[in-house]
Amino acid sequence: MWMCRHVAKALAETNYEDLPPLRKFGLKLHVKLCIMCGKFHRQVMDFQDAARFYRTHEDQGDIPSQRCMDDSCKHRLQEAIHAARQSAKD
Ligand SMILES: [Zn+2]
Repeated sequence: MWMCRHVAKALAETNYEDLPPLRKFGLKLHVKLCIMCGKFHRQVMDFQDAARFYRTHEDQGDIPSQRCMDDSCKHRLQEAIHAARQSAKD
């Protein structure tokens, strides 16, 4: 049985698509039904989906260069994500 804190911890530590199928199903079910955290965690999952899509297509060169982030922007984003993860753990 997933609890809100378990969902938060799983989403902070890993990409939900990388979870084993049964755990992923439990997480998605909780997010779908929970009135306390469902909306927020759905947004986190959407962000992970968008990041995965961007990473896949950036590697394949499908994204026009003007839409690609430069290295300094990527670095700032990585630092912001790392800081958010650290504050979530505290
Ligand atoms: Zn919840």
